[in-house]
Amino acid sequence: MSEAFNVADIFGKDVFNDSVMQERLPKKVYRDLKKTIEEGKELDLATADVIAHEMKEWAIEKGATHYTHWFQPLTGVTAEKHDSFISAPLLNGKVLMSFSGKELIKGEPDASSFPSGGLRATFEARGYTAWDCTSPAFVRHDAAGATLCIPTAFCSYTGEALDQKTPLLRSMEAINEQSIRLLRLFGNTTSKKVTPSVGPEQEYFLVDAEKFFQRKDLIYTGRTLFGAMPPKGQELDDHYFGTIRQRIAGFMKNVNEELWKVGVTAKTQHNEVAPAQHELAPIYAEANVAVDHNHLVMQTLKRVACQHGMKCLLHEKPFAGVNGSGKHNNWSLTTDDGKNLLDPGKTPHENIQFLLVLTCILKAVDRHADLLRESAADPGNDHRLGANEAPPAIISIFLGEQLEDVMEQLIVTGEATHSIKGGRLETGVRTLPELAKDATDRNRTSPFAFTGNKFEFRMVGSRDSIAGPNVVLNTIVAEAFAEACDVLESADDFSLAVHDLIKKYAAEHQRIVFNGNGYSDEWVKEAEKRGLPNIKSMVEAIPALTTEKAVAMFEKFKVFTKAELESRAEIKYENYAKAINIEARTMIDMASKQFIPAVIKYTKSLADTVIAVKTAGADTSVQSEALEEVSKLLAETKKANVKLSELVGQAAAMEEGEAKARFYHFDVVPAMEALRAPVDKLEMIVDKEAWPMPSYGDLIFEV
Ligand code: ADP
Ligand code: MG
Repeated sequence: MSEAFNVADIFGKDVFNDSVMQERLPKKVYRDLKKTIEEGKELDLATADVIAHEMKEWAIEKGATHYTHWFQPLTGVTAEKHDSFISAPLLNGKVLMSFSGKELIKGEPDASSFPSGGLRATFEARGYTAWDCTSPAFVRHDAAGATLCIPTAFCSYTGEALDQKTPLLRSMEAINEQSIRLLRLFGNTTSKKVTPSVGPEQEYFLVDAEKFFQRKDLIYTGRTLFGAMPPKGQELDDHYFGTIRQRIAGFMKNVNEELWKVGVTAKTQHNEVAPAQHELAPIYAEANVAVDHNHLVMQTLKRVACQHGMKCLLHEKPFAGVNGSGKHNNWSLTTDDGKNLLDPGKTPHENIQFLLVLTCILKAVDRHADLLRESAADPGNDHRLGANEAPPAIISIFLGEQLEDVMEQLIVTGEATHSIKGGRLETGVRTLPELAKDATDRNRTSPFAFTGNKFEFRMVGSRDSIAGPNVVLNTIVAEAFAEACDVLESADDFSLAVHDLIKKYAAEHQRIVFNGNGYSDEWVKEAEKRGLPNIKSMVEAIPALTTEKAVAMFEKFKVFTKAELESRAEIKYENYAKAINIEARTMIDMASKQFIPAVIKYTKSLADTVIAVKTAGADTSVQSEALEEVSKLLAETKKANVKLSELVGQAAAMEEGEAKARFYHFDVVPAMEALRAPVDKLEMIVDKEAWPMPSYGDLIFEV
């Protein structure tokens, strides 16, 4: 594996990308496919047959024996059903390898086992997958051999979205249409398409596999449900950007190679704040490709970690008291001719367009803060958002000193006539200052930060798909653009109207802008005064999906129907209840079969010691005290375990839905914490030899 190689030689080598298609497909077929990709024209079956045939030939050359429609149902992970290329044996006993256009564009997995939130009545269990030709197919090599993976959308037979990709593609349509409208108003006649660009920074933990397998909590839930903080925490900060240890370095090298082969532009890697925590960021791509690639990144991290005797933890909070993991979703809007709508530009004209885009985003985020918050909600992120190291659960926007100053002037005078440069006011300047990127990037506590020419949404959970947050971003901004265009298209004096609108939006949505410390208690109070929502948990966030304003917007832009939104809310409640149920049961199991028996044994050895020492005639006060303390905590553990078991039993009897999810959040979760507390205290005083599993220290510092 260590022979030298050239990145350019392996990059995209297993991707059926544009250059492969251009090389292998007949000219007309290639042109038709490009039209489908770029303009959404429907693909006819004859053309699809030719593409399928070439794709199959290419995949077989790469060693592929199977193909799969690779899709993203609402389970949070990707799904696939493998079919081999082999078709019926011929008379001469040989087999034919075939793959038709029909098989390429449409698949029929057994959909009944995927969550549908009641959308697909049981008698109509079938759904179908449809090729998303805007995200290239690729060949994946793993233990199962080589498989041609075809990125696809997943719908019910009546057309409702059962996946993450379908609404994402719909939201991309919406933002495209409204952005083009807006660009035309500013005299742009050349750009044909606007696409959201997304660059997700992925955080993760690595732990030793052997130790991982000694912890049922990690095996079943991906996080530790018990565990006391080691004496050495992350306070030293000597890990951040530290020398990446050899074992990790070898792992990262393999991850990069694997990702490059399937066309993922893995670019930066460094150690994160917490020990054993790391980050990987690709170069940004079109939103739907970025979403697919992020899934590939997560899968590759897991697979390669196993090959290196490690386990990759993608959970948002694998260890209590240690920095959690998130995903920074960098987002901007790019035209097909390479212009970024979030770039402030250099001329007054560009500046005005930028300020309109910016204030539209302020409006969108302010109006739909609850939806954005919901899009980052998952059971794991409940431990992170609002805790003092992660972005707060309150949505606010960080603009940086320069832009905030410009905004203030706009609100007061309706015009920005001067700008702060290096802290000094330069009056009379009609253009915006060239924003110093460094100056805008320093606020790490904001959940939604403007970083020079993009917004960075930092709430997203490390394990979650980034599809949801981007669906929301695309749609809420499309709505704000549409409303601005409605006003501007009918204005007599465009210049005047645009200035008025910018001023209006800036004034009306000023409350969402916050440049201070998002982790502080003062901000929580201040946000409350401003009337900004502070939604603390996933179950409290879910109702945002089905408010009147959400339904009206998603239906207007054809991203979700009301039924789809309701089904998604149902699925989320169900997923939450399931996740907590597994955690609670795992805790009960660990407490009953591991901690309590281990501590009972330990108390016996303490008691034996007390008797032996007493018989020898020495002072036993230390031993007796230890025995008493351990016994007291043991009793507490037992009591908490009984209580948790009762609550889990109660929950099991409830019907699926909001009430059940709330019961898990408000009753079961506190009971889990009550069980954890005495066990963690015991871990601190019981002999390490007697403790039945690796500690935080073992897991975090010995990778
Ligand atoms: P950091 O936030 O750590 O300073 P970078 O600024 O290098 O990191 O970028 C983080 C991510 O943002 C990368 O995936 C990068 O490709 C992506 N990114 C950079 N520019 C844009 C843009 N205009 N639109 C969307 N994503 C972008
Ligand atoms: Mg970042």
